Amino acid sequence: MSVIVDFHIHYPRDMQLEALVRTCENLGVVKVCMLSLGKWRNNVNENTLVERAMKEYPDLIVGFAYVALGRDPPDIVDEFHSRGFRGIKLIDPAKPYDVDEFFDYYERMEDYNLLTLFHTGIVARSARDREWRVSSEFMRPVRLDRIARVFPKLRIIGAHLGHPWCDEAAVVMMHNPNVYFDISGGHTFWVALAIRRRGRYDVDPARLLFGSDAFSPGVIERMLRFWEVALPQLGLSKEEVAGVLGKNALKLLGGT
Ligand SMILES: [Zn+2]
Repeated sequence: MSVIVDFHIHYPRDMQLEALVRTCENLGVVKVCMLSLGKWRNNVNENTLVERAMKEYPDLIVGFAYVALGRDPPDIVDEFHSRGFRGIKLIDPAKPYDVDEFFDYYERMEDYNLLTLFHTGIVARSARDREWRVSSEFMRPVRLDRIARVFPKLRIIGAHLGHPWCDEAAVVMMHNPNVYFDISGGHTFWVALAIRRRGRYDVDPARLLFGSDAFSPGVIERMLRFWEVALPQLGLSKEEVAGVLGKNALKLLGGT
C-alpha cells in the first residue's frame, strides 16, 4: 500500500478527534494537514483546537493556523510560528489575495518557511458572509500568480484546484514552480476533467496533493477510494498516483 497523506482536513465537526486518528491508522494515512478556520462554529477558535490536536498527535497532525487577511494584524504570523504551527490557512480575505497591503503577511510566512494554503475558487456560503462581505472572486486561482512571483521562496498551496477555475489554476501552476494545488473537496468531476486535459495546460502531477476536505472521518475514505480509482484512469502513471496520494506531500512537509 502506498503512503497516504491527506493535505486538507478540518477539525472533526463532532469533536471526536480520536475517531479521526483511528480512521487514519486504518487507512494508512500517515499525515494529515489540519486546517483551522479561526473563530467559526459556536465562536470556538479552531486555532486553539488544532494547536491542541497537533500537540497531542505530533506524528500524524500537521497544524495550519488561520489568519484573517486584512482583519488580523500581520504579526499574528510570528505568534503562530512560535506556537509551533507549520502552516497557515487563508480563506475569506478582506480584499483580493494579491493586494499590496497583504504582502507583510506573506513576507513573514516566507521568512518562517511556513506552508501557505489558500482556499481557491468558489467558497461555500457561511454565517460570516454578510459581516465580512465574502467574495469568491477575491480567491480566484490567478490571485496566487502575483504572490508566487513576488515571494518565490513561499510554498503556496491552492485548494480544490481552484474549482470551478481549474484550468486557470493549472496555468498558474505551470508558470510558477512554487505553486501546488490540492484536489480536495466534493467537486471531484470538475477537478478530474482538468487533470484529464493536461497536455493543453500542463497540470503537473508532481505538484498535485490528495486532500479530502473532511469534517468527519468517513469522508477521508470516500475521497481516497475515488481518487485511487480515478487517477490511473486519467492517465497518471503508478509513480504519479503514488506522488499525488502521499509522496508529493511528504516531500513538501519534509522541507519544513
Ligand atoms: Zn476545506
